[in-house]
Amino acid sequence: MGESVDVVVVGAGIAGLVAARDLARSGAEVLVLEARDRVGGRLLNDELPGGAPIEVGGQWVGPGQQHVLALIDDLGLKTFPTYTAGRHIAELGTARSVYTGRIPKLNPLALADVAQIQWRLDRVARRVAAAEPWLADRAGVLDAQTFATWLRRTAHTSAGRSFLQLITEAVFSAEPEDMSALWAAYYVGAAGGLDALINTAGGAQQDRVVGGSQTIALALAQELGDRVVLETVVTDVEWDVSGVRVVAGGTTVRARRAVIAVPPPLAARVRFTPGLPGDRDQLVQRMPMGRVIKVNVAYDEPFWREAGLSGQANSDHRPLGTVFDNTPLDGSPGVLVGFLEGRHADRGARLDLTDRRAQVIDDLAGYFGPRARNPIAYIERDWAEEEFSRGCYGAFTTPGTLTRFGPALRTPIGPLHWAGTETATRWAGYMDGAAESGHRAAREVAPALRRSGV
Ligand SMILES: Cc1cc2nc3c(=O)[nH]c(=O)nc-3n(C[C@H](O)[C@H](O)[C@H](O)COP(=O)(O)OP(=O)(O)OC[C@H]3O[C@@H](n4cnc5c(N)ncnc54)[C@H](O)[C@@H]3O)c2cc1C
Repeated sequence: MGESVDVVVVGAGIAGLVAARDLARSGAEVLVLEARDRVGGRLLNDELPGGAPIEVGGQWVGPGQQHVLALIDDLGLKTFPTYTAGRHIAELGTARSVYTGRIPKLNPLALADVAQIQWRLDRVARRVAAAEPWLADRAGVLDAQTFATWLRRTAHTSAGRSFLQLITEAVFSAEPEDMSALWAAYYVGAAGGLDALINTAGGAQQDRVVGGSQTIALALAQELGDRVVLETVVTDVEWDVSGVRVVAGGTTVRARRAVIAVPPPLAARVRFTPGLPGDRDQLVQRMPMGRVIKVNVAYDEPFWREAGLSGQANSDHRPLGTVFDNTPLDGSPGVLVGFLEGRHADRGARLDLTDRRAQVIDDLAGYFGPRARNPIAYIERDWAEEEFSRGCYGAFTTPGTLTRFGPALRTPIGPLHWAGTETATRWAGYMDGAAESGHRAAREVAPALRRSGV
């Protein structure tokens, strides 16, 4: 290092790697600086007993996610469907339903309420233009309230509210009280509706990547070769109209342009000189990450399948509120994946590993019976403990942020360009949004390089 390139990319998640690959393909000299000792960021494969890969970070892809699906195809990777055969489990209050299809057999009043809340949320989301939600009709009204306030006004039953709280935790890994109602509407709109976010077949949880989703990042990094430098924490970025000087661990890299492809709270920890305009700084001060502990529990075999269960379970009162079958394609070992999200992750993280594991296993036994008490492996990852993620699945905005500072999310500042899933116009928070943002950042940078003769 100590070198000079056309573009320096900070962060080797999907967004940074896609931006770097596009730029390298257009003939630019690119260097990617990554803080961790691996690529992939919020994507990470671990190993099951027997050696099969299992994701402890992001994993599913679904219809409508055109950027990540094209990327998977382009890299020669394959997907396979999430296991959904059999009956699902839903618990709402004291009621439990074991059902097929999409609608649990629960109290009809609660179901009607959930349906009307979803109808209203989808209607609001459609009106929030995904590229610029701050310009939407009634954006100010929505952004002046939390999503919890919006839900309280919209729901007619406590069961309806409780179900939507569960959905909020599952989709955002945050609580309705945490985020702006405008952010919630924007996020739902950016995915094409609530069904697209929550469904397995036909939705965001439809398919898995053969070999684990981190293979996407690993394949991109392999193409980029020694243009990706690991264990390099960017601490300082000096910039002016002519370019940037990026400081990482005592080494510096000069470049004409920089693509900053890290989540907003991480970008806020980099020291920019001169300091960034107030709008950008205020924005990143108001975008916390969600909180999730993802747990994969492995069994000798997927015993729930024999009982005619799909492995999909939801509960509005168990800490492990969302569970799916995460068994490898060849059927062994059996794996259930569950999530402690939002307030459940807060509480779970305060337990020691033994107690947290016992709580998770209790919940799995509550859903699937006593055989769930005999796992062969327990693999968990608390993303709030990760220095270079500080939470997951993604960042969100607090009330008032999008309408006051929204344009600063993507607008370049001098030679600085912003990427990362949070800056996407479609599927923000997902791998697809990350890929979209990488392509967009590369498109922004390319003309500036052409002007300077690259
Ligand atoms: C548990 C979990 C489940 C998820 N489930 C799904 C799912 O099923 N489907 C889906 O599509 N998405 C899912 N996601 C979200 C998905 O993983 C992310 O949207 C996506 O990976 C984000 O990519 P990115 O490139 O924008 O950011 P990141 O992956 O966060 O990449 C940013 C990179 O920047 C690096 N970095 C940070 N600071 C610095 C610094 N100062 N200097 C140098 N490098 C730095 C980080 O180490 C990281 O590698 C999930 C995420 C988690 C954690």
